Amino acid sequence: MSQSNSETGDSLWVFSFGSGKAQATEDQKELLGGKGANLQGMTRLGLPVPPGFTLSTEVCRYFYAYQKYPQELQAEVLEGLKQVEASTGRTFGGSNPLLVSVRSGARASMPGMMDTVLNLGLNDLTVEGLIRQSSDARFSYDSYRRFIAMYADVVLGIHASVFESLLEEMKASKGVVSDAELGALDLRGLIEQFKQTIRAHGAIFPEDPLKQLWGAIGAVLGSWMSPRAVVYRQLHKIPEEWGTAVTVQAMVFGNQGNDCATGVAFTRDPSTGERTFFGEFLINAQGEDVVAGVRTPQKIDASEGGLQQLLPAAYAQLWDIQQVLEKHYRDMQDIEFTIEKGKLYILQTRHGKRTAASALKIAVDMVEEGLITEHEALLRVEPRQLDQLLHPRLDPSASKTVIATGLPASPGAVSGQVVFDSETAEKWVKQWKRSVILVRLETSPEDIHGMSLARGILTARGGMTSHAAVVARGMGLACVSGCSQMKVQLKEFHTDAHVIREGDWITLDGSTGEVILGKLPTLMPTLGEDFRKFMSWVDQTRSLEVRVNADTGLDARVARSFGAQGVGLCRTEHMFFDVNRIDAVREMIVAETSQARHLALEKILPMQKSDFQAIFQEMEGFPVTIRLLDPPLHEFIPHQLSEIELLASKLGIAVEQLQKKIQKLHEFNPMLGHRGCRLGVSYPEIYRTQVRAIFEAACELSQQGFKVQPEIMIPLVGDWRELKFVRDYCVEEADAVFKKYGHSMDYRIGTMIELPRAALTASEIAQYADFFSFGTNDLTQTTWGLSRDDSGSFLNAYLEAGIYEDDPFATLDRVGVGRLMKLAIEEGRLKKPHLKIGLCGEHGGEPSSVEYCHELHLDYVSCSPYRIPIAKLAASQAYLRAQIKCKG
Ligand code: ADP
Ligand code: MG
Ligand code: MG
Repeated sequence: MSQSNSETGDSLWVFSFGSGKAQATEDQKELLGGKGANLQGMTRLGLPVPPGFTLSTEVCRYFYAYQKYPQELQAEVLEGLKQVEASTGRTFGGSNPLLVSVRSGARASMPGMMDTVLNLGLNDLTVEGLIRQSSDARFSYDSYRRFIAMYADVVLGIHASVFESLLEEMKASKGVVSDAELGALDLRGLIEQFKQTIRAHGAIFPEDPLKQLWGAIGAVLGSWMSPRAVVYRQLHKIPEEWGTAVTVQAMVFGNQGNDCATGVAFTRDPSTGERTFFGEFLINAQGEDVVAGVRTPQKIDASEGGLQQLLPAAYAQLWDIQQVLEKHYRDMQDIEFTIEKGKLYILQTRHGKRTAASALKIAVDMVEEGLITEHEALLRVEPRQLDQLLHPRLDPSASKTVIATGLPASPGAVSGQVVFDSETAEKWVKQWKRSVILVRLETSPEDIHGMSLARGILTARGGMTSHAAVVARGMGLACVSGCSQMKVQLKEFHTDAHVIREGDWITLDGSTGEVILGKLPTLMPTLGEDFRKFMSWVDQTRSLEVRVNADTGLDARVARSFGAQGVGLCRTEHMFFDVNRIDAVREMIVAETSQARHLALEKILPMQKSDFQAIFQEMEGFPVTIRLLDPPLHEFIPHQLSEIELLASKLGIAVEQLQKKIQKLHEFNPMLGHRGCRLGVSYPEIYRTQVRAIFEAACELSQQGFKVQPEIMIPLVGDWRELKFVRDYCVEEADAVFKKYGHSMDYRIGTMIELPRAALTASEIAQYADFFSFGTNDLTQTTWGLSRDDSGSFLNAYLEAGIYEDDPFATLDRVGVGRLMKLAIEEGRLKKPHLKIGLCGEHGGEPSSVEYCHELHLDYVSCSPYRIPIAKLAASQAYLRAQIKCKG
């Protein structure tokens, strides 16, 4: 026997707590799970915790590695039981029976994902003991029938609903509505029925309490690999190796009469963060009754019928304890309690889950209360959560009919009338002042105009980084993408049960991916004083700068209001799609001679100039990085016959001639085709015109006293000679403009690093670049040889098979792409110690990628306007974590 183990405190697998003494501490969450460790902690604090013991997560790991229990386990469990028997004065399986609960609990909380068995230890004999002990036959049989049903469900695999219906039948036959109206004899009858049902399923309900205990321990360990637990772990990135602990704990009873209760309480309001004691309870109930919603729970407060009124002494104690727990754990706590015959017991405490608004308020309030430091507050809010604050959300009290679910591509909840093309969107919005939701199979750059007018975007195809998703996030529009349940046909779409036609109202929830029938109420975001204060701490605690990807003055203004420190990427081509410009752009593209091209470009120049001026003005005092034309030219050309005819007549050329030209522009693999700086090499006049527009805009503002910092960015460079070629004439253009205005300024010319060859030859490229900006969308595509727009069809299979841990377009691939980045940074800075380095891909707004950029000592990341607060907080947390690592 390993009796001595526990007495000397060096048990291997089992850790006891009770009567004010605990073998382990609350810090041992890895070993005992969150629930187990906090039971140890609360016992040490002297709180009323029923005694028990926890089988460590090592048991779980051992169990899955060897398909059996460690040799010492049995003796340690028996020893643990003995201690519980000693502190309760009851005997497991004896005539004054000890009953226990068997509870699961991993390091990370997985609410409701694993199983719990209550009232274990009851059988036909011990139930008689319980009746004598409690002088309450009804309560005893009630506990017994609950136990049999739970045991059958969790251990024997007979679904709980089987027993639920027997219970319902019994109530119906007695003509009563609530469980509480059933008498002892009814419950005894139910117990017989339950046992018969188990036998009918070919299973055996063990009468021996020890057999029951090992059965329940095995089932809780088994529930770690249950399908729902596996899926939950995948979603929340909880490693399988962590394993679950199993806690065996003396039962206390909230179902022994009207001086008993069970409930859940929060030390602050988890949805608003308000500092009010908040919670729900049920009188004369057990365990999950509160959560299960069998009866509607009452609120814990001073109101009529509240806990304070019904059980004042227990309430007062609970109130004190919640204060102790919050002070001790220094965070908002979610507490499970049971009151037995007026006496309060605490069964669990953990950091409470909360909404973004409440996370922010609690963090700021706790700093003001002196409970935590500003740095701790910064680590308390999930960067991703901030998204919730910046967009309207569905009114949670509204009832909704979800007709389909796609990917939550861009957050926010919006309602609008469905349209299926940009022209209709424009007419409805501009002429009729309607709110519209643009529904497309997928979107392309031609849809930008309609998208910018819509309140939300819904697409049947495309992933989280599809065109629709990226553009919607940039514009702060709600977007649900990849909604494959939806079939789009001309001016209607079908889901399993609904047909939605042009003009019908729908609501999108871009935070959940839900498509909802009709118009639903939404709540507007409020960025109050708390947000401002919190972001000011964020700004004081980070080294990585955060810029914005902005294409218009309007984007830039929104970005400044979120505190962007410059523009990291302005995509000039987005301005080309404007209805007033596209004709001139097309004229430029189909031009046969350099002179004709020049003429068309002269029309575009003033338009681009005013765009740049608007952005420079909004970003006064901050750098603005403008990328020269990047996409292949055929993206700007119409492909439908009617449109081609229209364009031909506008340009005064034959339709066939235009068609030939368009055919010539066709490419087999446009992503790797005639685009980026290759355009600048074959048609220098395009880039020259853009550069002139940039510097003329800059000079005019600068002469008016504005501080402008232009940065010219050259895309898709793979060789230093390309960069030098383009750079040289850009400098020429800049000089010419400076001469014309009799005015000059500092500027930078740099390049994107978005081809592996650019990273591999960074040391040569750095000689001609004032800055590097990692274009990680293309760098990911080209490093993996993987098309972002086509990965949707197999990405899920890769994620499920565990070949990809994450979508590499969403979370930066540190191993591969990251290695190229490291190399480019090292070689670039070796050549030029002060080389500015940033990142401007979609990854710039994704917290773990931002953390990596901090680790790589980048100067900045650039992301869409609504992600700026997220990127900033992620940068600040990365900074703090690095500091903590350094110290510890
Ligand atoms: P979960 O992780 O799903 O919350 P728990 O292990 O916390 O599972 O158990 C669920 C509920 O069962 C608890 O909230 C509590 O009400 C009840 N329960 C668990 N152990 C005991 C116990 N020893 N005495 C009384 N009730 C218990
Ligand atoms: Mg539960
Ligand atoms: Mg619980």
